[in-house]
Amino acid sequence: MRKSTKAIHSGGLEHSIYGEVSVPIFQSSTFAFPSAADGAARFSGKQPGYIYTRLNNPTVNALEEGVAALEGGFAGVATATGMAAVSSVYISFLSRGDHVVATNCVYGSSRVILESELSRYGVETTFVDSSELSNIEKAMRPETRMIFLETPMNPNMKITDLAGAAEIAKKSGALLAVDNTFASPYLQRPIEFGADIVINSLTKFINGHTDVIGGMIVVKTEELYNRVKKIVSLFGTTMDPHQAWLILRGLRTLPLRIEKSQENAMKLAKFLKSHPKVTWVSYPGLPDHPQHELAKQQMDGFGSMISFGVQNGLEGGITVMNSVRLITLAVSLGGIESLIEHPASMTHASIAPEERREAGIVDELVRFSVGCEDFEDLRDDLNEALNAITD
Ligand SMILES: *Cc1c(COP(=O)(O)O)cnc(C)c1O
Repeated sequence: MRKSTKAIHSGGLEHSIYGEVSVPIFQSSTFAFPSAADGAARFSGKQPGYIYTRLNNPTVNALEEGVAALEGGFAGVATATGMAAVSSVYISFLSRGDHVVATNCVYGSSRVILESELSRYGVETTFVDSSELSNIEKAMRPETRMIFLETPMNPNMKITDLAGAAEIAKKSGALLAVDNTFASPYLQRPIEFGADIVINSLTKFINGHTDVIGGMIVVKTEELYNRVKKIVSLFGTTMDPHQAWLILRGLRTLPLRIEKSQENAMKLAKFLKSHPKVTWVSYPGLPDHPQHELAKQQMDGFGSMISFGVQNGLEGGITVMNSVRLITLAVSLGGIESLIEHPASMTHASIAPEERREAGIVDELVRFSVGCEDFEDLRDDLNEALNAITD
């Protein structure tokens, strides 16, 4: 199956009950055993079948199969939130004395856990600009257990070479974990480039309707799967069946939404480039993006996230936030509606200004998650908001 077919058909029930076409919601916390012997056989793993929803649930399993098929992994484990996926990956594989090399633009909470929480358990992290492979290489130590990447990077839209990073990880016996939320498996499949673990915040593109939170871990091998599955079941970061059903519904239209929103994004990136109040545009689809060629190699499309700079720095960014009317001023991304935010005064305000600048999060940067509206309406709204910036 090709990827749109997979999004629509992967992840179903083994046996339908009434010939239903959509996967039902199995809203049951526990499952009855036909006999004591069956119960014993299920617990020992000798008999397939359900036991208890924290361990397995048919609706949740359907979503796991669907996303794992798109990512091209061995299997997936669904979690309550994207952060539950990130933290479960950390807990599954990191122990006292281990070292992590992470992208310096990694998602805020993913960074805070490494910096302030895992450090309490003796895990050390070095943050690097991973868009230069030599920075990863230089940070590697004998005790480096994991490379943790995000590409495209948030919010500067730089790209990390996945195949190159996988080679460094392999040489050092480290695991390569990639947070694939910004691209989604429709545009980028890190396992094809050698990643061991892929995380998605399903809250974003995969659900796509800005109404549900969820996460997914997809892994390359059975051994990795068994480890992650055990930790998620034990720590209880499991997804709920109703949540899984809603997200499965979103997954079915992922290809349509991405195609429409990235077509809009390409047109808007070009429009922004020509606007007098815009100082720079970072979108991997523009030929002048420093890693345009790399993006072409490892992505099937350039996605629908754009960052750009506006005149008058912090003040200019705030003016745009207060002047958009159709585009919603909100954090998050990947929904059918366009969202805009200003990292320096919002998502990344808690990071020290020097650290922000080091990570390329300058004061004038605006992050734009392009939705599926008509291009002309988005263009007109942006144009008016930009023109509100005083010269
Ligand atoms: C949103 C996001 C997360 C966290 O996901 P939640 O579903 O909000 O817990 C992790 N990584 C990236 C890149 C994200 O955008």
